[in-house]
Amino acid sequence: MRRYNSKGMLVFPTPDKKVAIRQKKVWVVEEVYCQNGHSLISNRAVFNNQKGIYLKVKGNNKEGHIALSPFCGDKSWIACEAELENGEILEFFCPECGVKLPIYRRCTCGAHLFTMFTDKNADFRNCIGICNRIGCQVSEIIQADELRCNSCLDAKK
Ligand SMILES: [Zn+2]
Ligand SMILES: [Zn+2]
Repeated sequence: MRRYNSKGMLVFPTPDKKVAIRQKKVWVVEEVYCQNGHSLISNRAVFNNQKGIYLKVKGNNKEGHIALSPFCGDKSWIACEAELENGEILEFFCPECGVKLPIYRRCTCGAHLFTMFTDKNADFRNCIGICNRIGCQVSEIIQADELRCNSCLDAKK
C-alpha cells in the first residue's frame, strides 16, 4: 500500500467501504452508568471532542484505569497506570463505587461482553456490551431490547 502521496504527506488507509456505509450514523455514547447509577463518562479522556468512558480494570495481577472511546465501533482503549497486553482478558469496575460491571453474554472470541447501562435503571434492555478481551473489537448497543449498533461483523473480517 502506498503510504505517501506525491506531496510526501502520509496517506492513511481508506476505511473499509462496507463499514463506512453501514455506520453512516455513528453512535456516540453520551451517557453510561454502572448498576448503581454512577456515570462512567469522564473528561479524563477525550476522543474527538467527546468525553470518553473511564473505568477501573483488573488484568493479570495488575490493576489500573482505562479510557474507552465513546464512538461505537471505535474500540480505542487508552490504558492509564496499567500495562495491558493484547489478548488479555480484563475485569471492569465502576471507578466510583468499585462494583464489578456485569457480564452480558459470551463473545465469539471466547471471552465475555461486559455491560454498561445507558440509563440509571440498570436495565439490560438499554445497555452497551463490550468484549473484555483486549484487541477484540466486538461491541454492541442495545436500546429498548433491540440491537442498534454492532461491531461484530467488522471484527470478523
Ligand atoms: Zn458505581
Ligand atoms: Zn471478544
